Amino acid sequence: MRKPLRLTLLATSLLTIAAPSTAQFKDAVGNQPPVPADVIYVHGHVSTPAGWQEAIAVSGSTIVGTGSKADLAKHRTATTKVIDLEGRTVLPGLIDMHVHAVDAGLQANNCIFPQGAAMATAIATVKACAAKARPGAWIEGGQWDGSSLGKAKPTAKLLDAVAPANPVVLHDISLHSVWVNSAALKQAGITRDTPNPAGGVIERDAKGNPTGVLRETAAIALLNKVPAPSEEERIAALDRATHAMLAQGITAYEEALMASANAKIYAALADRGRLVQYVRTCMWDNDQDLIAQRQIYARPRLDLGCVKMILDGVPTDAHTAAMLEPYADADHALGPERQKGSLIIDAPSIIAKITRYDAVGLTVKLHAAGDASVRAALDGIAAARKANGGYGPHHEIAHANFIAPEDVARAAQLGATYEFSPYLWFPSPPVRDVVTTVGPKRMERFTPVRDAQDAGARVVMGSDWPVIPSMSPWVAIETLVTRQAPGGSAEVLSPSQRVSVADAVTMLTTNAARQLGIGHITGSIEPGKQADFIVIDRDIFAVAPTQIHQTRVLRTVVGGKDVYSAQ
Ligand SMILES: [Zn+2]
Repeated sequence: MRKPLRLTLLATSLLTIAAPSTAQFKDAVGNQPPVPADVIYVHGHVSTPAGWQEAIAVSGSTIVGTGSKADLAKHRTATTKVIDLEGRTVLPGLIDMHVHAVDAGLQANNCIFPQGAAMATAIATVKACAAKARPGAWIEGGQWDGSSLGKAKPTAKLLDAVAPANPVVLHDISLHSVWVNSAALKQAGITRDTPNPAGGVIERDAKGNPTGVLRETAAIALLNKVPAPSEEERIAALDRATHAMLAQGITAYEEALMASANAKIYAALADRGRLVQYVRTCMWDNDQDLIAQRQIYARPRLDLGCVKMILDGVPTDAHTAAMLEPYADADHALGPERQKGSLIIDAPSIIAKITRYDAVGLTVKLHAAGDASVRAALDGIAAARKANGGYGPHHEIAHANFIAPEDVARAAQLGATYEFSPYLWFPSPPVRDVVTTVGPKRMERFTPVRDAQDAGARVVMGSDWPVIPSMSPWVAIETLVTRQAPGGSAEVLSPSQRVSVADAVTMLTTNAARQLGIGHITGSIEPGKQADFIVIDRDIFAVAPTQIHQTRVLRTVVGGKDVYSAQ
C-alpha cells in the first residue's frame, strides 16, 4: 500500500510548486525609497536605449536613472553633486577590440614620422630624435614606405649624416622591413660578407655592400639586437597607452596578443590601481605556459579569457594572407600554394585547437585576413560547436579583409564575431598595396562590414594600434560611414560596405561589450549598468560625417569616476 502514499506526496509537492505563496518574498519586493545619487548630470544630450535623454543619475559606480531632470529629482539629496553638461552629447564608453597596448605605449617614445612621409620629413625627424638621444642609445622609429620616400632610395648613409652617434632602426609600414644606419649594421655585425639569412634579404649596392635595408628574417635578426625595455619601462608604457585611450573615450578594450612578459605588466599595473579600463587579453597560442598559468595574472578588471591564434599574414605584396584564388600579381612560375598564400597553422590543428579552447570556455581570436583563412576559422568553429555543443564562447575572426560571399552568413549561424580594422576599410597607405595584389574585383567587397552586419553576424571594431598609427575611434566611426579617408576623399573604398553612424556606434559599444562578456555591466547608458560614458564636443549623429574624425572627448567617466577631462 505504499504506492498511493507516494503518489499523494508527489501530487502535494507539485501543487506547492504550481501555486507558491508569495508571502515569503514580500520583503524582497516591497517598495524601496529611490536610491540617493552621488552625482546627477543634467542638461545633456544623452544616447540611451530609451532614446535621447537629458539627465543621468549615478550612485557609486552604477547608473540608477536616466530621463529628464524632473524624472531624476527623486534621487537628489542634500549631498548630491549636480553637473551641468551644457547640452553636450553623451555616449556610452567606446570599446576597442584589438589593441597591442604595451607596444603602443613603448612606441609613443619612438622616433615617429607620419605614414606617407617624404624623404626630407623622415630625415629631419631622425635628426631631431638624435639631438635628444644619449650617445650610443638606439633610436627606433618609422614608418616609411618606398613609394612615399620618393626617388632617393633609403640608405644607411642618409641616416649616418644626421645620426652618426646612435644606431638607428626605422620600420616600414608593413613591419616586414627595416631601414638602418651604419652604427646599427655594425652592432648587428652585418658586413658585405654576411650572407642573407634563410627567409630574409640584406639589400646590397652594385659593389655588394649592405645598403641599410633589411627584409623579413634579416630585419628580425637586427631587431633582436635592440635592447629590450625593462619591466618598469613596460609598466610605464602601458600606463601611457591606458591614458591615451581614455582621452579618446575608450573605456574597455581587448589586448590582441599577449605573452607571459606582458601578462606580468598588466597584473602589475592593476596592482598599482592604475589599470582603468576593463581589459580582456588574448594569450598567444604559442605561449602554452601562460595559458596554463593564466589565473595567476587575473585581476578584477583583467580577464585572461581569450587565446590568439594567427592563421595567416597580410594581403600585401608579401602575399602571406591565405586566399581561395591566386593573387592577381602572383608569379606563375610558383606552385599553386605560393600563388594563393597559405595557412600558418594547418587545418586539422586549427580544428583541434579551437575545439579544445572552446571546451574550457576560452574565446579564440583568430587572425585571418584572406578568404581561405576566414573559411578555415569558420570550419574550426563549426567543428567546436559539433564537438562541444552550441553554447561555447563567440570566437572572433580578426581583420577578415576577404570573406567568400557564401561564408559571410556562417558567422551568424555559428555564433562567431567579425572584428574589422579601420585602416583596412578606408583608402590608406597599406591598402594601396592590396589593390595591386588582389585586383579590382575582390576590392569591391574588401573588409565587408555591411555584408557581415546584414547577414546577422556580430560585428565589432578593433583598431590594431600601434600596427596602425592611431587608435582614434572617431576616425573609425567616420570611415565606417564614408569609406573615404578621414575628412573625405575622392577615392572611396568598397562603398557597398558603408554603414550608418548608429550602426558604427553599436559596433563600438553594445556589440563589443557583449563580445567581451560584460554586456550586462557596460555598453549602454541605462539603469543597472556601470557608469561608463563619455561627453564629446559635437553631436556625431547631426554633424556631417566627414567631421566626426575631429571629435574631441571632453570627459571620460568609468565606474562613476572622472578618469579623463580635457583642458
Ligand atoms: Zn594586431
